[in-house]
Amino acid sequence: MLKPNAEFNRITDITVDFLKQNNIKAVILDVDNTLIDLDRKPLRDIKKWSDNLKDSDIKICIASNSIRKNKVKNISEKLDVPFIYFSTKPLKRGLSKAIKILNEKRENIAEIGDQLFTDVWGSKRMKLFSILTKPISEEKTKLGSLKRKIEKKYIEKTKEK
Ligand SMILES: [Mg+2]
Repeated sequence: MLKPNAEFNRITDITVDFLKQNNIKAVILDVDNTLIDLDRKPLRDIKKWSDNLKDSDIKICIASNSIRKNKVKNISEKLDVPFIYFSTKPLKRGLSKAIKILNEKRENIAEIGDQLFTDVWGSKRMKLFSILTKPISEEKTKLGSLKRKIEKKYIEKTKEK
């Protein structure tokens, strides 16, 4: 079952209180359409949000499937957090590395991202707390928008049950 533990509109809507209530001590963040839009523009207030987590002793690591190292590095430097690029979610490789960096139990780690078949599936496989956010901007490619449509249908179906 591909059902996230929680859903939010934007990552910046996720509060420290919410994370603490769910025993989350560390978070793994997706990049594309979660932290930055398709033009690589960071989400408004994302730095403030991540600083607030750090001040509350919640650790952060980025795990992006993107093969564009510089893009992932740029946002990780902006937020001053470690990063993994080409993380091959939903496969275990990149997420395992992130878990090692964070050095917390899986049950205390949340993965936050906008895609069902990479982020949510990946976190389910790794037994992490899964938080699905809405994509910041719509996919511009035909394949991308088709993928979104399938995801949307799937989400609606699982909600009906
Ligand atoms: Mg994404």
